[in-house]
Amino acid sequence: MKNNPVYPRRRALALACLAMAVAMPVAAQTQTLGPAPLPPGVAAAPPAPLSVAVLGSGGPGATGRAASSYLVLLDGVPRILVDAGPGSFVRLGEAGLSLARTDIVLLTHLHIDHVGELPGLFKARAVAGGGPIKFRVFGPDGRRGGGGAAAYPSTSRLMHLLFDQQGAFGYLRDFSAPLSWQVTDIASAVKPGLLPRVALSEGGLKITAIAGHHRDAPSVIYRIDYAGKSVTFSGDLDAEALADLRAIAGGTDLLVFNSVVLDPPRSPPVLYTLHTPPKTIGELARDAGVGRLLLGHLSPAVEQARDEVVRSIAQGYGGTVTFATDGALLVP
Ligand SMILES: [Zn+2]
Ligand SMILES: [Zn+2]
Repeated sequence: MKNNPVYPRRRALALACLAMAVAMPVAAQTQTLGPAPLPPGVAAAPPAPLSVAVLGSGGPGATGRAASSYLVLLDGVPRILVDAGPGSFVRLGEAGLSLARTDIVLLTHLHIDHVGELPGLFKARAVAGGGPIKFRVFGPDGRRGGGGAAAYPSTSRLMHLLFDQQGAFGYLRDFSAPLSWQVTDIASAVKPGLLPRVALSEGGLKITAIAGHHRDAPSVIYRIDYAGKSVTFSGDLDAEALADLRAIAGGTDLLVFNSVVLDPPRSPPVLYTLHTPPKTIGELARDAGVGRLLLGHLSPAVEQARDEVVRSIAQGYGGTVTFATDGALLVP
């Protein structure tokens, strides 16, 4: 086959971006990743202290977007991986980004559309160079299941199953560079009055976490603060976690909110036990004083009703709303 399978998708993406730009305000700081040639004699501007690269803006259906995944860049260097949805490996390469200095992994929950690409990305990290690798991995604790609820391993158990010596990919520990990890299981039980807790604090970087809620899947909400800027990741989130999201997202510069459903009753009822509708997203962004909203994890239903989603959010929130696209770079 001589056909280039990438081109039609890129063209479709470009057209989608164009349509989005016409339909809604997109802040000037949104750009597509990749090297931009500078005119002769023009010095490159220093990188933004905090920026977010979208590796995957979709999931769980195979709709042409990679599933949920983001890279957070500190001073222009990719340092923090937030979720690892299938397809993010390809987007990482397309974006020309390297994981050579990525050593922090934040998992919002252990659904496949958020962690399925972990082995691929870990191997990409292993061959990216930079000597011995020590990952700091954060994710939810587990759940035994039963009574109609599914069982989930804790994040440390998942890492054990994947990468321990006797795990599925135990060979990776010494494949290209010595690889080790330290896992922190974060309590995922939602309780009234819960406050965000510091998960990591070093060199001006602060990562805080609080329990999320996603029906029966143990979940965590993260906020990253660096050099006076901040980004908060909701993960997949239902109504039971809204108080926690409000508690952690106060005044955040960028809130990445997973947008899967339309306002009731336009989506199947069961999805409202898993996700948050646009009207509520807008109210929360307003209440939390969010600087800017990025909608990710986009479902076909949301794709096809972008104008309706924007209008619904705008009932509560007056800030900029952007629909994520794979390969976009946002500067909060
Ligand atoms: Zn999920
Ligand atoms: Zn999901």
